Amino acid sequence: MESPPVVDIDVDSFIKDQPLLPAFNGKVDMTAAFKWSKYNILDFFDKVTAQPGPRGYNVEAGAQKSLDAVVTTIHTLVNSGTPQTSIFLPNQLDVFYYTTKFRIETIFELVGWIFSVTGFSPPNANRNNYYYPIAALYCVFWRRLTENSTIDPPIKHDPNMVQMTWFKVGSDWRICISSTLDGIGLKPYKDATQLRRQDVLIASGLLPQSMKNKSLVPTPNPQMFGHCAETIPWLYIKSILKSVSATSAEGFAVKPKLFLPDKYQEAYVYARLDYRVLRPPCENCAYLLPKLGFKAPNFEPPTY
Ligand SMILES: [Zn+2]
Repeated sequence: MESPPVVDIDVDSFIKDQPLLPAFNGKVDMTAAFKWSKYNILDFFDKVTAQPGPRGYNVEAGAQKSLDAVVTTIHTLVNSGTPQTSIFLPNQLDVFYYTTKFRIETIFELVGWIFSVTGFSPPNANRNNYYYPIAALYCVFWRRLTENSTIDPPIKHDPNMVQMTWFKVGSDWRICISSTLDGIGLKPYKDATQLRRQDVLIASGLLPQSMKNKSLVPTPNPQMFGHCAETIPWLYIKSILKSVSATSAEGFAVKPKLFLPDKYQEAYVYARLDYRVLRPPCENCAYLLPKLGFKAPNFEPPTY
């Protein structure tokens, strides 16, 4: 298939009339949050922990009991000294998403869990004023949190892909966001996590046992089920699928390396995500999409 033509878009005029909506239950100015340091981000997580109720950050009720442990673990990872202990959790951590427990294993997943359970989407949210920017903000947060002058430049350890799905649950809209399992030199950890996650996909009913250790993705990158950035978001959604309007769900995958700064600690200023950083679902994810009742076209990158 031919690639879509590359078109230069006047980004400033495109987003001028669409200021970014506030995030996290209307309490955080996203434009300001893109400039936060690692310490600002940690302070923010502490504030969410202190005010999780509807008048505060409105963390999903079942998830509130995991908030302390998640934020404490993020502090531990940020203060550790090696790539492995900055990214992969030192001990098993099971967190609640609504009433279901999930084992999450990387700092990318911890930060994604906070984004996925804190507040609903604003009522007038669309891709340009909310969904693209909040996915980019998620990437900025984990990039800042993995920047540590005592280890390799964090850029080497960025996850290759991030996926966000948004969907209607009851009368509200939520996001779920996470990343691939990555980190250069961390393959043993990544592989162990991927195998565990594949078993969770099977236990959830999304993946038949007959697909264990198989991939629908052709060489040269035939990653197995459980690796993709979609895995955690879609497992979360599967756990509450009865309450979700599945046909309303939309999503996209992005390559963070194509829009994050490529220099250590360089400032990030949000400009609308160019469609060239978006990626369609891989063959494994395309297989899972209908099992969730999602519409495949809602997950294809727009070609404007
Ligand atoms: Zn995939």
